[in-house]
Amino acid sequence: MRVTDQRSKPLGVALWSPHSEISLRLLDANADAVIDAEWWNHAIGRAVARRSGLEQDANAFRLVHGEGDLLPSLVVDRYDEWLVVQLMSAGLETFRVEIVEALRTQVKPTGILARNDVPLRAKEGLGNEVELLFGSVPDEIEVREHGVRYLAAPWRGQKTGAFLDQRENRALVGKIAHGQALDCFSYHGSFALHLAQRADHVIALDASAHALTRAEENFRRNNLTNGEFVEANAFEYLKARERERVRFDTIVLDPPAFAKTRSALESGLRGYKEVNLRAMRLLAPGGLLFTASCSFHLSKPLFLEMLEAAAADSGRRMMLREFRGQPLDHPELLGVPETGYIKSALLEAVD
Ligand code: SAH
Repeated sequence: MRVTDQRSKPLGVALWSPHSEISLRLLDANADAVIDAEWWNHAIGRAVARRSGLEQDANAFRLVHGEGDLLPSLVVDRYDEWLVVQLMSAGLETFRVEIVEALRTQVKPTGILARNDVPLRAKEGLGNEVELLFGSVPDEIEVREHGVRYLAAPWRGQKTGAFLDQRENRALVGKIAHGQALDCFSYHGSFALHLAQRADHVIALDASAHALTRAEENFRRNNLTNGEFVEANAFEYLKARERERVRFDTIVLDPPAFAKTRSALESGLRGYKEVNLRAMRLLAPGGLLFTASCSFHLSKPLFLEMLEAAAADSGRRMMLREFRGQPLDHPELLGVPETGYIKSALLEAVD
């Protein structure tokens, strides 16, 4: 719908959600824009073009990152020749046909699946469902990612079937891992697979036995024999290894969001600090820690502050080797903090 300010000055065209806390989401700053099939084709075409080149290193990446791609509440992930979409507002739902049509024109996929089983949709008065929108989509899709292969589960896996947002970070750890490696919060082992390219031995740790079964399958798929799979609570595991004075040369921490809401930020921060502090203590001299947070409410400065505090309490001197934000296929609009959520750092234990 067309939006104007109090003095009737046109502001643009926005998606409208009558039942949501977020009533309007800006689609076009031109108030005369006509939001038709051609508009969607153009807008989605621009987002797809923004990813050109990424397919050289991977066959799975995000094609549309919501408002970061100027398409609020729309997510489209590409898995090889299939697409998984999430339509996360009532306003967007009214353009479902145009969106599917534009994706077919721009990407020519074999199938399009809607993973509309996200809690956010309830706030929009929308149903919670997984629905095939076009063609067919298999249960499992082999993802090729910087020389590693793993299976994504588009119908049932977390998010749209895999954690694509850590792809470039996994490539980074694949380049620098060494010695004894530990991947905490491993899920299907995607970081562990990259660690295993260079490390002597990799422990993939997760609280979910099911996730670890998948991790083990993924190791076999890559003919890797240097993996070990441990079902445990990461906090307890790290504490126990510290007591035993075990040391690791490379550690990855990619936990779930500990601070899902603003009110959970304080307790979330305590969790992040504890797990990072414990990992720092376990590093051998010269050891590397790759650590990430996907909590939107934990800002970049707060993340860094938390790492500084963890380093101080760990009794180790930690060097910041690289600070990272969102990957190439998850663009972030400056001034629109909601479009960014991933922060990460590569740290080295100096001595
Ligand atoms: N690193 C993964 C994504 C991790 S998702 C990737 O790149 O694909 C977070 C994982 O943490 C989930 O698999 C979940 O089962 C696990 N998890 C949550 N709480 C945990 C805990 N306390 N200890 C160990 N694993 C936990």
